[in-house]
Amino acid sequence: MRQIAALRRAAAAPALLAVLAALPAFAQAPAVPAVAGEEKLLAAMHSISSHPLLGYVAELASPKYQGRLTGTPGYDAAASWAARLLAGWGLKPAGDRGGWLQPFPNPYTLVLSPGELTLQVPIPGTREVLARPYVYEKEYYPGSTSDSGSVTSDVVYVGYGITAPELGYDDYAGLDVKGKIVLMEPEVPVAPDPDVDLFLKWRPYSFHDYKVQNAVKHGAAGLAYNYFIVNPNNVFVKGFVSAAIGPTVLADLFAGSGKKHDEIVQSIRSTRKPASFPLSRTLTIRTRTEYHAEGIGANVLALLPGSDAALKDEAIIIGAHLDHLGMSDQLMPGANDNASGVAVLLGVAQALATGGIPLKRPVLFVLFGAEEQGVKGSEFYVAHPVVPNARVKAVINLESVGRGERIGAGAARDYPELWNAIDQNNRKYVHRQVSGTSSQFVARPRQDAAHFVWAKMPTVSFGTSGAKPVPYPTYHTTKDDVDLITPEIMEDLARLVFLTTVELANK
Ligand SMILES: [Zn+2]
Repeated sequence: MRQIAALRRAAAAPALLAVLAALPAFAQAPAVPAVAGEEKLLAAMHSISSHPLLGYVAELASPKYQGRLTGTPGYDAAASWAARLLAGWGLKPAGDRGGWLQPFPNPYTLVLSPGELTLQVPIPGTREVLARPYVYEKEYYPGSTSDSGSVTSDVVYVGYGITAPELGYDDYAGLDVKGKIVLMEPEVPVAPDPDVDLFLKWRPYSFHDYKVQNAVKHGAAGLAYNYFIVNPNNVFVKGFVSAAIGPTVLADLFAGSGKKHDEIVQSIRSTRKPASFPLSRTLTIRTRTEYHAEGIGANVLALLPGSDAALKDEAIIIGAHLDHLGMSDQLMPGANDNASGVAVLLGVAQALATGGIPLKRPVLFVLFGAEEQGVKGSEFYVAHPVVPNARVKAVINLESVGRGERIGAGAARDYPELWNAIDQNNRKYVHRQVSGTSSQFVARPRQDAAHFVWAKMPTVSFGTSGAKPVPYPTYHTTKDDVDLITPEIMEDLARLVFLTTVELANK
């Protein structure tokens, strides 16, 4: 009830706006010297240090923010915390109605218990059934957008779960899945490379929403999804339950079928012919969740004005998603994904706002909401920009930048001016291994950068890699925590983004 009340308040007149309106306003642009010497530039760059950045990650990953699922009070609190820091450094609110937030409709689902995933194994020669319950996170997760409920039924393997008449392909052909649990693969049978045109024909079927809706259309009651992560990027359908299953469950479901899962998938991919069949296995999926159709998400927008009025529309945008997966019953800390990106953004914002470095063009900082729910915050921003998209000088997105020792500059190779600024500043001052790649994001969007690339803005999406392996999965699990963060890479990347931004803002 408390959450619902808080949401209603947010929907009526965003509660955060009221809180933030009380913050001191910074009406004047910072005084800008005509020329900044290299000494001053380097002093400002060196003011970026790993200690506060690591502190930001620890703050956001703490239980206080409940895993930052967009729409929840935990997310709102994280947005408020970030806006307070930005205000303290003298940035200006650039959200709706003079506030820091840009709200947008954002339904969400709370997962209230680990639920249950159980294989019902008949005992040979008896009428008894042995229940084999699986272990949360080790073997399964409750579906992040599942309805509450319990379904016990036979399992039918439906390949990729696609019905595409124009491609002559139907994973459901000749099958009866009414009231049953379907076992399904993510994505589509073809990859974007090497044949982009072929992939584009399949692309509409790669979305998680489509797969669930198609299962529902065929009368299925539940989904065992062979996509073993916590993932709120999916549709909620009343009465439909789901679970994300790991390798143990998959192996148990295929055991005794006379078929091997990897061979079946290989055959679908090589022949592009479905290979669906009923598995002689019975599963129970039980979930306890709470759906909030009325959810409201928000981006946080902060502006550092430029000194040249003629260039005021040619902003540099620096973005990072603030949200994560919430509580999948247990806390999903999201330290690398993407508290690290937020931390780097905040480090750059402070250095630019307080370092006394002249900026001709403005810099707009955007903390995106609902990246984890299908890059909804960046989609909404690009459709409702606060500086004209067509005149944006560059977009720098920060996505999972807190682990490892190498920097990847996704999409940057497609924009020579942007790439040269990154590459040259790195060679001159930062000295990390930075590799630029080319990306038009032809697959379903999995990063906020995609919407900016599609809107024809010069964009780079930074990520980091090369972390020491750990013996458990960290991507979208409870283990993406602050103890695995490498503070030095965040410091170096923040310095590189700072230098690149200063150069592009003044060119
Ligand atoms: Zn993520």
